[in-house]
Amino acid sequence: MRLIYIIACCGILGMAALWLGKLHLIRRKPALLTAAAGVLLAGVLTLCAVLPQNNFYGQVITSVPVQKKLVALTYDDGPYLPYTLELLQVLQEKNVKATFFMVGENAFKKQEAVRIVSRQGHEIALHAGTHRDLLKLDREAIAANIDSGKTTLAWLSGQDIKFMRPPHGFRDWAVMAEIRQAGLTAVNWSVIPRDWTNPGTDVIVDRVCSKVFPGAIILLHDGDSPKNAASRQQTVEATAAIIDRLRSEGYEFVTVSQLVAAKEEK
Ligand SMILES: [Zn+2]
Repeated sequence: MRLIYIIACCGILGMAALWLGKLHLIRRKPALLTAAAGVLLAGVLTLCAVLPQNNFYGQVITSVPVQKKLVALTYDDGPYLPYTLELLQVLQEKNVKATFFMVGENAFKKQEAVRIVSRQGHEIALHAGTHRDLLKLDREAIAANIDSGKTTLAWLSGQDIKFMRPPHGFRDWAVMAEIRQAGLTAVNWSVIPRDWTNPGTDVIVDRVCSKVFPGAIILLHDGDSPKNAASRQQTVEATAAIIDRLRSEGYEFVTVSQLVAAKEEK
């Protein structure tokens, strides 16, 4: 079932109720109530699709309950040069492993960068084949998008691709079904410093460090899909400072796979 169809039906129902009310074929109050219910239902379902931590359409990992102070740094939209390679330099110097949610199209263009990320021991996960809003694609196009991205990343990295973060974190029943069908687990985030707006290195660091908690998944960006135009220098610099500050507070950095494996069983 697609969210976009339900929203369209809600809109048609609301408009029809208002018209019938205007033509006095139904009474004004039920007409207004029907229109309001349509708007409310469409609004709630849309919110569930765009809120990163909502599980209405299916289970999405946004953090993991752990006893130790573990956190996962994740980077979206790459590979994107020179920033992906600059970021790798920082992670190597600090001896930190991260998770890169790559775009298949970018990976195909920057194949050596994917191989280097993988060789340095970072986890590679899927963001998408191309950075499209999957809510606007039909089922076949969603499946093709996911399959092309997963195949490209597995081929270039040699890794078993396990996780997917849909573009913008948006999903509905069909998107979640196709993610599952591809053998992937959906992952969003629990800490979002909005680094893609380039608010300043210190702001990014403060936003992360003030919101972090054991088991958190931190969303950062080494890329700028689909435009591939903005600088990611602030994210590179912020990463070094985030690692230093959180380490001083006792945090350890792990990949998403390691975080999930450390899950505290209740
Ligand atoms: Zn993205």
